[in-house]
Amino acid sequence: MTAAHGTGDFTGLGALVTGGASGIGAAVATLLLARGAQVAVLDRDTASAPAGTLALKADVTDDDAVRAAVDAAAAEFGALHTVVSNAGIGAIGTVTDNDDAEWLRVIDINVLGMVRTARHALPHLRRAAADRPGHVSITQTCSIAATAGLPQRALYSASKGAVYSLTLAMAADHVREGIRVNCVNPGTADTPWVGRLLDQASDPAAERAALEARQPTGRLVGADEVAAAVVYLASPAAAAVTGTAVAVDGGMQGLRLRPA
Ligand code: NAD
Repeated sequence: MTAAHGTGDFTGLGALVTGGASGIGAAVATLLLARGAQVAVLDRDTASAPAGTLALKADVTDDDAVRAAVDAAAAEFGALHTVVSNAGIGAIGTVTDNDDAEWLRVIDINVLGMVRTARHALPHLRRAAADRPGHVSITQTCSIAATAGLPQRALYSASKGAVYSLTLAMAADHVREGIRVNCVNPGTADTPWVGRLLDQASDPAAERAALEARQPTGRLVGADEVAAAVVYLASPAAAAVTGTAVAVDGGMQGLRLRPA
């Protein structure tokens, strides 16, 4: 029996979820809480952080604020074992649609936000890894856009491609320290973010129906379904899993369905 006998009990572990006040991050924070973890939510808007979490208002573009929030979580919980780097924003358009300022703004949040979170979490994670082998990890929210070639998503896809490469490089750098690094690749997940996009359409209900029809499963992915994969990757059941991506996309990337 190895450390993989763990069933996902996070009792006594400290966790930090960025972007944890909404959508996928909130689902992850809620599930980690239910599994017994102490959970901090780092978000630029903490108004709807799940009850029972330690809400830490910070923007991932602010290095000092990220450091302060990460340190505060570790101090509150006595240790930090689980980091879920999830804060991110969308961007629509081809390369001719977004100027340099917009590229830098999105990369600052989606890529450097995860770099900053990892940079400040790693000293805490190294200490935790010495005590709880197999329990210490960073899981980053990437996207199928990292590898799928989606239209109208040049900037977003490039940012998530960087997150995917970063995941692999960090996994290599920290594997011998007992810190695992993985990512999840959601497809189209039913979160407030997607709700906001649909609301911009002239007929949001029709747009939602069309979006669902494009999914192999005929429905959007639930934020709780993405959270289940994140919590698996953070658990000792995944003690042998590092440097990989788990797609939770309703078959969007892997399947080639014939038209009905
Ligand atoms: P969401 O908008 O519902 O939640 C995102 C959260 O991140 C919000 O609470 C927001 O306040 C926070 N956030 C955004 N920018 C921040 C910043 N600069 N500093 C701190 N917090 C910030 O979105 P979601 O759909 O739950 O997306 C979460 C992650 O999942 C993102 O990284 C996104 O790219 C990824 N993703 C989402 C989908 C999808 O279809 N919803 C698909 C693939 C990947």
